[in-house]
Amino acid sequence: NYQAEIVAVGTELLLGQIANTNAEWLSEQLATYGINVYNHTVVGDNLDRVEQAFRLAQSRSDIVIVTGGLGPTEDDLTREGFEQLTGLEIIEDTTTMDKIESYYKERNRTMTPNNRKQARVFEGARVLKNNAGMAPGMYVDYQDVHWFFLPGVPREMKQISTEELFPFLENLTGKQQVIQSTVLKFIGIGESNLEHELSDMIHEQTNPTIAPLAQDQGVVIRVTASASSKEEAQKLVADKKQEILARIGEYCFGEDEQTIENKVIELLAEKDKTIGAAESLTGGLFSSNLVSAAGASSVFAGSLITYQTSVKESLLGLSPEWIAKYGVVSKECAEAMAEQTARKLNTPIAISFTGVAGPDKQEGQPVGQVYIAIYDEGKIVDSSSILLAGNRNNIRERAALKGFELLYQ
Ligand code: ATP
Ligand code: MG
Repeated sequence: NYQAEIVAVGTELLLGQIANTNAEWLSEQLATYGINVYNHTVVGDNLDRVEQAFRLAQSRSDIVIVTGGLGPTEDDLTREGFEQLTGLEIIEDTTTMDKIESYYKERNRTMTPNNRKQARVFEGARVLKNNAGMAPGMYVDYQDVHWFFLPGVPREMKQISTEELFPFLENLTGKQQVIQSTVLKFIGIGESNLEHELSDMIHEQTNPTIAPLAQDQGVVIRVTASASSKEEAQKLVADKKQEILARIGEYCFGEDEQTIENKVIELLAEKDKTIGAAESLTGGLFSSNLVSAAGASSVFAGSLITYQTSVKESLLGLSPEWIAKYGVVSKECAEAMAEQTARKLNTPIAISFTGVAGPDKQEGQPVGQVYIAIYDEGKIVDSSSILLAGNRNNIRERAALKGFELLYQ
């Protein structure tokens, strides 16, 4: 018979600014495993008081679940409080550090030193992967007390609980729970819009949990459910999935292992049409991404990498006079590139990319200005002008991705 305690760290809880919904939710879940929660403790962001709260928990409980105070800021003191109590070493988890670094790199932002803090874990701790945010959770067995450290953000706390804490409790108590999870993939909708569309669902989530996450290929939502049988858990996931798709299904291109490249290939194969590409700023990136997916050979004819203006003239047959009139960074040029490529490669469909990857402006157009055109059976069916953010390679990658998005629509 295990005695559990939930320690919520955060001054905002003491000030009454937010309710301790984490403890509420965790208690409810623990009850389903037959674990008695004897204490809810709330402690402010103060090192000595956090240590005291942990000392008391260590003395009276078998399982302690701590939420909050794992983030990057000064007032996040959970690690320090436990360190002060136990003398355990804190080390940097390289997997988490890599994740944080690439997050900042992808967004072209500089990482502030305090962000390293989120990668700090106790030596010997089991790192609990955070699929919904940055700071991972931790499990530590300290003098026969099971300590779980979870982020304060409810969505992250629930996600890690479902994936890591509950399976652990299942083992401990012998009570069977099955976890099922699905990743829904979206394109053409940003993370904040997606969260806005689903805000009530995200706010009220219990089981299944839903965790949106921005990734290289757009936004994904991980839906995870636990139940006493696989069928039941699958049904919970399937129902939640329907609920999500009823609202934003038009942006969903696939699930789990599916990629946007695969989907575009499928779509072209269904129409039984081949595609050619003309790439300027992307320099072959679109074609390379397309070819990375199996099945590309049946739909991808080839690509003309027309980078310098002289090659746009010689390979695509655009005359110097025409280029002098419209420029190479223009809607007209993108359209002409697509049309000429379809002719030269003898494909019904062609897509083209031209724009300014930077670092300098070109033809008076700003860095990030990109034109993409799609030609299909004798006419231009899409001609987009977009302004992309980021450094040179971010812009190239985003332009290629945008091409897939436009083809998929
Ligand atoms: P972050 O990385 O965001 O700083 P953290 O692990 O440090 O996460 P906190 O800074 O303590 O967590 O809390 C982050 C947010 O999560 C709070 O602003 C609050 O909105 C929410 N939160 C924290 N603790 C609780 C709780 N016990 N119940 C409900 N919500 C909470
Ligand atoms: Mg914090």
